[in-house]
Amino acid sequence: MGELGVREDVAVLIGDDGHIAAVAPYAELMTQAGEAAVQEVDGVLFPGFVDCHTHAVFGMARLDDHERRSRGAGYKEIAAAGGGILSSVRDVRQRSYDELVELTRHRLDRLLALGSTTVEVKSGYGLALEAELKQLEVIAAMAADGGPQVVPTFLGAHEVPQEYRPRADEYVELVIHEMLPAVERQGVARYCDVFCEPGVFTVDQSRRVLQAARRHGLRAKLHADELDPSGGAELAAELRAASADHLAAISEEGIAALAASETVAVLLPGTMMFLGQRRQAPGRRLIDAGAAVALATDFNPGSSPGMSLPLMATLAASQCGMAPAETITAITVNGAAAVGEAHTRGQIAPGFRADLVLAAVRDWRELVYWYGDNLVTEVWLGGRACHPRRWAVNFIV
Ligand SMILES: [Zn+2]
Repeated sequence: MGELGVREDVAVLIGDDGHIAAVAPYAELMTQAGEAAVQEVDGVLFPGFVDCHTHAVFGMARLDDHERRSRGAGYKEIAAAGGGILSSVRDVRQRSYDELVELTRHRLDRLLALGSTTVEVKSGYGLALEAELKQLEVIAAMAADGGPQVVPTFLGAHEVPQEYRPRADEYVELVIHEMLPAVERQGVARYCDVFCEPGVFTVDQSRRVLQAARRHGLRAKLHADELDPSGGAELAAELRAASADHLAAISEEGIAALAASETVAVLLPGTMMFLGQRRQAPGRRLIDAGAAVALATDFNPGSSPGMSLPLMATLAASQCGMAPAETITAITVNGAAAVGEAHTRGQIAPGFRADLVLAAVRDWRELVYWYGDNLVTEVWLGGRACHPRRWAVNFIV
């Protein structure tokens, strides 16, 4: 993960199919390119960033929760005051498809402006058949919108909805027998994710949902070991999940299980920072053990309203013991692996999609250094310059 191929004075030849045809010394490619349109750029060109974990379809921001937390309120107190994840569920259930499309489009514009050319987006604020499908259809609409490439994930088992408390097992049955077949029929998801955490879904419930998902053609992802080491990482490895995400409380056994598997360890350092948790996932130990580590924003209204992958890279360098080069691998190559696209994106190399990000820096390490700014000046999606709407408003309604 620490070995980047950094090259100077090169040109990237983009084919008509939107894929990279060649990467070679500038002078050499100029003779090959002939009459082709040439665009000279100044700065550092990165592969488009891959944000492999977001919850970008939601309604309102949760400003009251944030304010309460800043004054020391915990999860239970916030929920008792009408906030928390179930407030986002009530909101998404009553909101129209069109409103959600409008809100999500603005957020994907911002993600693109920050350099994310591929974005995984989860459902999970519906927690009922119709509302989950509505979210997945919003995600499908985004895929056809000309913005970042979207990878859709069904997260019906994000939380136990109010009406099923304390009957979590019955809700799990609903997810397995009603939601998963409908999601497969509509063809609106590629992955199935579960929030595996004590007090939400157990390891056994998570296993049942993800095994059923596989029968419906969906590959597994897992929210695992965020606050307590419950065996989520081990379950992800057992199920050959594409990724195990969060991992701030991963056990030694969990680290060993991920290191021995193809499952990508996705760290979400923005979440721990925003929640005021004074710890982070053990990025250094995961890498040293041999795990593939990716970074993502976890963009969502409750625990991580941030959209910048470069900021996640800075946090990983400062708080997870990752070298700057490893953080770049984590937001490109390994992010792509976490959404099953390691062979198509995340690298500037022949055959890969021409998803490119230009940053106004001289040394690539500056991307991880100048935190809190957006250094991205230009983005190409499949070879097409898309001039992201830099000042699009992430408005709250
Ligand atoms: Zn999440």
